Amino acid sequence: AKAEGGNTHRVFEPTMDEAEAARRDLERDLRQAIEGDELILHYQPQVSTATGRLLGFEALVRWEHPTRGLVPPNAFIPLAEESDLILLLGEWVLRAASREAARWSRPLKVAVNLSPRQFQQADLPERILAILTETGLAPTRLELEITETLIINDMARALGILRRLKAFGISIAMDDFGTGYSSLATLQAFPFDKIKIDRSFVGHVEVSAQAAVIVRAVLGLGRSLGMSVVAEGVETDAQMRFLAAEACDEAQGYLISKPQPIEHFAEQIGACEGF
Ligand code: C2E
Ligand code: CA
Ligand code: CA
Ligand code: CA
Repeated sequence: AKAEGGNTHRVFEPTMDEAEAARRDLERDLRQAIEGDELILHYQPQVSTATGRLLGFEALVRWEHPTRGLVPPNAFIPLAEESDLILLLGEWVLRAASREAARWSRPLKVAVNLSPRQFQQADLPERILAILTETGLAPTRLELEITETLIINDMARALGILRRLKAFGISIAMDDFGTGYSSLATLQAFPFDKIKIDRSFVGHVEVSAQAAVIVRAVLGLGRSLGMSVVAEGVETDAQMRFLAAEACDEAQGYLISKPQPIEHFAEQIGACEGF
């Protein structure tokens, strides 16, 4: 074929249709991954800053892709959130984390992240209770991590759902605190058990006076509202010392451990023989 003069350097760029096709492929793969058990959970410890004692784990999902390797959640959760896939994925995570935690011989907590979409299900509390019953996990050992987005979307509905979850004995943590827009009034109106200070503040407490002021303010807020405070993304001894000195209740971060497969924590969970 004869080269078309002006087009000889045409770079191959995906068109909108091609991008849409790639998105559909990924969505199809993800649906198969959920149904075919290609998802796995990694667990990250949460410890007492005062004593270092292990209190529980946050469950974080990963996709063990047959050709792409271990895919981090930021690469597929946003896609799942564009469709009902997030509901399927969310239930998978709840069931897998509950089943796993039910086997531990120590009654540690397990924290699970919830997407705002899951909160649009009016029967969410009953669905979660059914999973707990099925897996044999006591509701008091489950903690749900939610973000401010969820509350802003539909305050009245969110409050109703949170109250029902709490009535079952499930605890609720506000995730990524400080990064959103919720007012102090909102925080006070919602029955959170825990506030998780976002790692963008925690990561700068030794170098930024402003970050330190914010962390202290959140700790004061937690104390006055009767909510315990967890610092996320603790990476250095200096950060840990700051948090302990300021009486922050709990810490989570690479300093303690990166998220790992549960086998890594066999000793801490009191795994039985044959684990
Ligand atoms: P997140 O809920 O804020 O989870 C904490 C993230 O920070 C995790 O990333 C964790 O690996 C990372 N992290 C923990 N400690 C440190 C640290 O010391 N330094 C740094 N730089 N990072 C640290 P991951 O596992 O990649 O998860 C990213 C996000 O994906 C989570 O943020 C959460 O929003 C979402 N996600 C993970 N699992 C689930 C899930 O099962 N359901 C839903 N809806 N979202 C999930
Ligand atoms: Ca979280
Ligand atoms: Ca977080
Ligand atoms: Ca986050």
